[in-house]
Amino acid sequence: MNPSHTPNWNALLEYDREHIWHPYAKLPNPIEAIGVIRTQGSIITLADGREVVDGMSSWWAALHGYNHPKIQQAMHEQIDTMPHIMFGGLTHEPAIELAKRLVDLSPTGLDKVFFVDSGSVAMEVAIKMAIQYWISLTRPAKNKLLTVRNGYHGDTFATMAICDPINGMHHLFSDVLSKHFFAPAPQMGFSEPSDNQDIAGLKSILEQHHNEIAAVTIEPIVQGAGGMRFYRPNYLKQLRELCDEFEVLLIADEIATGFGRTGKLFACEWAGISPDILTLGKTLTGGHITLAATLATSRISETISNGNPGILAHGPTYMANPLACRAAIANIDVLLDSPWQDNIQRIYDHLTESLAELKKVNGVADVRTLGAIGVVELERDDLGAKIQAAALEQGVWLRPFGKLIYTMPAYNIPQRQLEQLSAGLVNSVIQTLAQNNL
Ligand SMILES: *Cc1c(COP(=O)(O)O)cnc(C)c1O
Repeated sequence: MNPSHTPNWNALLEYDREHIWHPYAKLPNPIEAIGVIRTQGSIITLADGREVVDGMSSWWAALHGYNHPKIQQAMHEQIDTMPHIMFGGLTHEPAIELAKRLVDLSPTGLDKVFFVDSGSVAMEVAIKMAIQYWISLTRPAKNKLLTVRNGYHGDTFATMAICDPINGMHHLFSDVLSKHFFAPAPQMGFSEPSDNQDIAGLKSILEQHHNEIAAVTIEPIVQGAGGMRFYRPNYLKQLRELCDEFEVLLIADEIATGFGRTGKLFACEWAGISPDILTLGKTLTGGHITLAATLATSRISETISNGNPGILAHGPTYMANPLACRAAIANIDVLLDSPWQDNIQRIYDHLTESLAELKKVNGVADVRTLGAIGVVELERDDLGAKIQAAALEQGVWLRPFGKLIYTMPAYNIPQRQLEQLSAGLVNSVIQTLAQNNL
């Protein structure tokens, strides 16, 4: 950027407020967005010059902080040679190298890769594959999905229909959304003992309706935007067995959890299972550019390819964008070359210890941590904006939603910034609850 260029931020923000939609917002937006001008590592520089510690990793994505030099270098090299080329009939090394890494690293059996540009679309492709699999086997009645409550799989029409029916958009679009089956969410926390009752509701739906069900979709171990809930690995293991027993495919959505966030490279590893279809997104390029992927077993690709019409009818314009593939390769290499397990343990230990004092604070319903994720669940759902503002005053960027104040910092966040982050979170919660007489 031209250093002598000083934008008029009042005018920019006013234009933004009047003309540009932000996620889940009104337009014009009564809440003015905060201008940002620069990122580096775990620091975000705001338009007014303030430097704040990032607690969100841009919604799970920025695994190694912003502007990682190795990822940037890979992108610079690619942008100078071939930023984009169509994938219809053509191919390139970045896509092939990335596919190899995904096949090698992901749970066993997932050896076919479909590249798309966002997480929601990766789920759309997963759903399309599952339904087309059963059409190819001449069992077209198996075209419904089964999922658990409190899930989140995206904002497109197919994915909205499998988001939580209460906190999702079912009310608004009930006439338009496909009707699927919902089982109760897993109730037992990550380290709670196994309990067969937990999965009984899901099992009984499978018993009654397996002839109509193409696949179960689930976020392994961590339910993200649908409630930030952690559940026990044995639930996943039992789910895998039930899917096999009732001839239903298993779609694991690792768009948020993939690449280490829970302490395993993929959250499925906690249960030692492989899904039939796996989606990746958010974390794939370490927050540098958009890219997502749908992985599947050869059984799925062969069945679809041997069926009628014999092709998978999907092909985004920017499919396997080489610039994004290069960023993803560099992101994965940076991850594997780093002591990421130690880093996640370090963040887990720190968040577990520092957030614990909130457990006894009036108005706090629950505090939970897993991997490099810390969650504070409040009793009230109307304090998020105030807590966000209070945290910002303390130099910390948080983006609460509803009752949930949460953080998932970059794995390599310096210890001092991690301490500032947790202190900012704790203080902003205590302060806001006190001011609101709780
Ligand atoms: C964010 C998210 C999605 C949707 O990804 P987008 O890139 O926002 O479309 C789907 N599933 C899960 C688990 C997510 O966290």
